[in-house]
Amino acid sequence: MSPAAGTPHPEWDDLDNGGAGGGALVDTLGRPMRDLRISVTDRCNFRCRYCMPKEIFGPDFAFLTRSAVLSFEEIARLARLSAALGVRKFRLTGGEPTLRAQLPALVQLLREISDVEIAMTTNGTMLKPLAAPLREAGLDRVTVSLDSLDDAVFRSMNDMDFPVALVLEGIEAAAAVGLPVKINAVVRRGVNDHTLIDLAGRFRGTPHTVRFIEFMDVGTTNGWRLDEVLPASDLVRMINERWPLEAVEAQYTGEVARRYRYRDGAGEIGMITSVTQPFCGTCTRIRLSAEGKIYTCLFAADGVDLREAMRAGATDDVLTSLIEGTWRAREDRYSELRSQSTPDLRKVEMSYIGG
Ligand code: SAM
Ligand code: SF4
Ligand code: SF4
Repeated sequence: MSPAAGTPHPEWDDLDNGGAGGGALVDTLGRPMRDLRISVTDRCNFRCRYCMPKEIFGPDFAFLTRSAVLSFEEIARLARLSAALGVRKFRLTGGEPTLRAQLPALVQLLREISDVEIAMTTNGTMLKPLAAPLREAGLDRVTVSLDSLDDAVFRSMNDMDFPVALVLEGIEAAAAVGLPVKINAVVRRGVNDHTLIDLAGRFRGTPHTVRFIEFMDVGTTNGWRLDEVLPASDLVRMINERWPLEAVEAQYTGEVARRYRYRDGAGEIGMITSVTQPFCGTCTRIRLSAEGKIYTCLFAADGVDLREAMRAGATDDVLTSLIEGTWRAREDRYSELRSQSTPDLRKVEMSYIGG
């Protein structure tokens, strides 16, 4: 059962921020605002069919112009105000975040904000040159998306003929400079499910946890169908038959992945069960699009524009109350309400809002 509107959920026992008005900042379902996902660009060098299908994101697609995109100073300002409202983790994403020029300079600005963790989700193709400067600038960890080790399957899924080897080199480069690395793999029944035991096997015995993500109906262009979702429970069963697994307790409330460890001590895997076992009840994420709109759900149709306010001279107090008011009014729980008809609702694209 949900707590009364605006009261903290009983699971949140460590609320430590006041928000501008004194009481802890929680939404209508009692969820605090803890994670800020920052999309630094809506562009990408991949055309993963589940995210940016070529037919839509082709040569004529109108990506954001340079002036529409927030500057690093604007991003850092909003990040600082969010941290003052309770955010403890920033995640750089996109589009492909490493395509944004001078990205380490943004990490450096974010590093000046105290008590926050800085992570990034990337397709890994640019990590070879960028891992060291990002680490030096203060990046704490990285998640690399890699949907298959089968080169033909991977080239077809990214639809730009990018080879697996390039991503593996990126993962190695990140690990070599001391960045903890997780691997994300979107699971699409009939597309890459027959290659996932290999993927798990490749990272067994390494510090890199593979997290399998159920194919989601993000945006409106990826042709999502429920029958292409392989339930995580099926995948757990498949992997368990090969290498016995046991469930691990969540490390913290709001953790996205269900964790499993190999019984023989060879590490862990995670399952992101957004479709079959939604986790909206503990969702603490707010998203900032590259052009400065905030969204309180991955499946939202509209965001609140902070760029216009900022560029019109809004003070920190005004921006803080915009963020705070947006979070307090939040009632999103799309994945819990998902049905056959919800995929057709108007939603922002994932490459725009960030994963
Ligand atoms: N370009 C970067 C990358 O691919 O890691 C960051 C942005 S991407 C939108 C963030 C994450 O969302 C990736 O791990 C990607 O696999 C995942 N993703 C994209 N579309 C998805 C979908 N339809 N269902 C599930 N996950 C998806
Ligand atoms: Fe690009 Fe990431 Fe979307 Fe693939 S998932 S198209 S790499 S933004
Ligand atoms: Fe959070 Fe929306 Fe995903 Fe639910 S559907 S977990 S509210 S982003």
